[in-house]
Amino acid sequence: MRNLRALLLSVPLLVACRLPATNAEQGPPKAVFILLDGIPADVIERVSTPALDAIAAAGGYARAHVGGELGGPTETPTVSAPGYMSLLTGTWANKHNVRGNSNQSPNYDYWNIFRIVETVEPSRTTALFSTWLDNRTVLVGEGHPDAGGFALDHSVDGFERDTVRFPHDPASRYILAIDEHVSTQAASYIASKGPDLSWVYLQHTDDVGHAQGDGDAFDAAVQQADAQVGRIWAAVQQRQRLGEDWMIVVTTDHGRDVLTGKGHGRQSERERTTWIVTNVPTLEARFTSGQSAIVDIAPSILQHLRITVPAAVSREMEGVSFVRRSPR
Ligand SMILES: [Zn+2]
Repeated sequence: MRNLRALLLSVPLLVACRLPATNAEQGPPKAVFILLDGIPADVIERVSTPALDAIAAAGGYARAHVGGELGGPTETPTVSAPGYMSLLTGTWANKHNVRGNSNQSPNYDYWNIFRIVETVEPSRTTALFSTWLDNRTVLVGEGHPDAGGFALDHSVDGFERDTVRFPHDPASRYILAIDEHVSTQAASYIASKGPDLSWVYLQHTDDVGHAQGDGDAFDAAVQQADAQVGRIWAAVQQRQRLGEDWMIVVTTDHGRDVLTGKGHGRQSERERTTWIVTNVPTLEARFTSGQSAIVDIAPSILQHLRITVPAAVSREMEGVSFVRRSPR
């Protein structure tokens, strides 16, 4: 990211002034959100990430947070699955009820973004590309009666259970191989089909963080993840040239502990401090000033997609859109 953040934060008025009215004149709205696991804000800002820089140059980069309100009822462990669920539902763990990475019992009363889109406008197309199967089968709850029984239009996942194609090794290189496959598949599908809403989940960075902590190996993993993002950004740009109105959001689910960088889960500033990159230029001040949270992403994407969220669902969401509404 380097330098870009300072540059962008120094010109918020310029960014704000040049934008009005872009979305309404463009083609059908589309969105893809990418979650790169466990990359602290200080790392993403220090390491060279040309793909993220290119996306931010079109829109913006800002720090954000996970973990809910410190010491309040919404406080949420800085753990992966609770973070994904906060992104998907726009709520914290006191509502979505996912507090760890195993034995989850999500409270499906708080609808996730895929259920909202598939219920409100079933003709919209949805896709999920993930290095962790549970994202679809447990958190999103595809096909689960309590989660509405909806179906995604396309999914690419489950490879971590394919030990023939991706033999497991102690250094978790197979997870990098799966991330490569998943991101390539996502880019190819987006380029050819242009689904209305997609989620791409990539895991390898967190595995390296747990094994190695802060340092060169982690930085290298971040650069590999950036290259995978670049693949998807290129596909999005291809679709933009067809006249489609694309929003891309890239974020992480938690930071890491300050001492070694190997752990996370608690409420230290480094574990709570995350970041969001988007190509959308019409950004609210709460975004550019670093006040956004992971729960703001779903409302932002739903606004971009012009989905009217049922009132009973939207009033339970803790997040608010960071995309400025353009006059129509
Ligand atoms: Zn994680």
